[in-house]
Amino acid sequence: LGSAARLYTEEDPLVILSSGSLKSAVTNSSSAWLIQFFSSWCGHCIQYSSTWKALAQDVKGTAAKTRFGSPKPEGSASHSIFKYQRNHKKVNSLRAKCWGADRSIPSVRQLMVNILQNHTKLDRPEHCPPLEPYSSAQLLPLLGQRSDHYTAIIVEEPDSYVGREVILDLLQYSGVQMKRVLSSDRPLLDTLKITTFPSIYLLHPNGTHGHLHSEKLLRFFFSSLLRTLPGVQRWSKSGSSSSSAGQMRVLPDNQNTEPWRDFDRSKVYTADLESALHYLLRVELATHNTLEGEELKIFKDLVTLVAKLYPGGGSVVKLMETLSDWLLSMPLQRIPYQAVLDLVDNKMRISGVFLGAELRWVGCQGSREGLRGYPCSLWTLFHVLTVQHDANPTALENTGLEGEAVPVLQVMRRYIRMFFGCQECGRHFEQAAAASMDTAQNREQQILWLWQQHNRVNMRLAGSLSDDPLFPKAPWPSPSLCASCHEEKNGVHVWNQDNVLRFLRHHYSASNLSPKYSV
Ligand code: FAD
Repeated sequence: LGSAARLYTEEDPLVILSSGSLKSAVTNSSSAWLIQFFSSWCGHCIQYSSTWKALAQDVKGTAAKTRFGSPKPEGSASHSIFKYQRNHKKVNSLRAKCWGADRSIPSVRQLMVNILQNHTKLDRPEHCPPLEPYSSAQLLPLLGQRSDHYTAIIVEEPDSYVGREVILDLLQYSGVQMKRVLSSDRPLLDTLKITTFPSIYLLHPNGTHGHLHSEKLLRFFFSSLLRTLPGVQRWSKSGSSSSSAGQMRVLPDNQNTEPWRDFDRSKVYTADLESALHYLLRVELATHNTLEGEELKIFKDLVTLVAKLYPGGGSVVKLMETLSDWLLSMPLQRIPYQAVLDLVDNKMRISGVFLGAELRWVGCQGSREGLRGYPCSLWTLFHVLTVQHDANPTALENTGLEGEAVPVLQVMRRYIRMFFGCQECGRHFEQAAAASMDTAQNREQQILWLWQQHNRVNMRLAGSLSDDPLFPKAPWPSPSLCASCHEEKNGVHVWNQDNVLRFLRHHYSASNLSPKYSV
């Protein structure tokens, strides 16, 4: 690949192969591979690369089993050639047979589904589920039976692909078994009283059953609803699953010393925000013995930002205002960390203003120790600050930050780069900021940029070891939090950004902050 004309990077949700690595990657692989051979100098390939990336993103949930590859040009080919690697035995070239002029995402996706479905038992990739429809004779006996998992029956018309796509979307999840039935199967339809297609009928582990209501009859909505059923969780990328196939694990597990507190995912909890500040001031900052120069400036800006924008007044604002005034009044260019800690811990307490002396996660609880917590609360804090800045545009006047178009993002960027304990995260965030933060030019774009960036991180981390199985990383907000945020255009999921902005303004507003410690 010519470096100037690189069409794909490691950040893309696909595997970049070379002629050297192609064979070893696909031989004996338990996954099916869809491989694009291309020349980076050919105009057609360059044009098609954005569709190829979007396609890879679109089927990413399936991608552990259907890998996307983009090896460097094969011979002197000046066009894209697509090959489907069927298990480890033979390679099917799609080009001659089925690759027509229509290479749109839904068409290629449907083509993949057809090929996966046409496997015989013998040559089906190890993890590929059967995609054939079930019959009422197979499914009716399951009604009323107890089980250790959900069974989701997708009923759809014969030419619909939604059922098979949802089955593949759920491939990496345990706790739910997927079956598909055609709308022509009258006995099942009559028994379950199903009249709308596509629709999902859910058999619960306790033997009860009923329709699964979805606001929109779209693949993304179905997949998202099923993934968020209690106990349904993602297999981890490391290959070790936290439960055996099809079985649900009861979470949270008892490795966590803190008692579990139920909470409402549509709320933001002040306990999380306060814990973020507690951790930031008492743990993260403590790794710096003294604050001087650039560090001191960044810390001061952060304190000012929180003092001016933290919603609802109260102790936190008082503390941050006092800290901010104190920092500004200091003639010193160098402040020992201990002096900051003394102020936060002792002087403020005397005047009755103090920050909780312990970490109390609510919306940021992890299902076990080491998951979620601080990074979750830090994202939450900055989302709140972007929304508060939008609601109070003049709040930063006379602070030195008023000249910045997107001050919350700028301060966050500097803070993460200088102080954030996860250096690898900081490096990634810095790369993203350098690449696109300048596209955010006003308060609305500031809210949306952070939302978008956070979703990129979610996508990148989905299924990784830091992914809490109770809170699998997924595009956010889910349809159950905001149905109008999601649409489908030409068969592909798209965000309705106006509605996302409206949702974020509400979700991270002062009025949606809950002071409770649990629901
Ligand atoms: P989080 O991703 O922390 O999200 C917290 C809450 O924010 C969610 O529960 C949800 O309510 C809400 N939310 C989710 N998505 C969005 C969105 N798009 N917009 C608005 N609100 C949303 N970890 C790594 O392993 N590698 C990294 O490179 C990395 N980079 C990071 C960069 C930053 C700046 C931060 C703050 C954290 C980073 N982390 C990284 C940590 C990681 O992103 C998670 O914070 C952590 O794994 C905990 O995940 P979580 O499930 O609690 O959800």
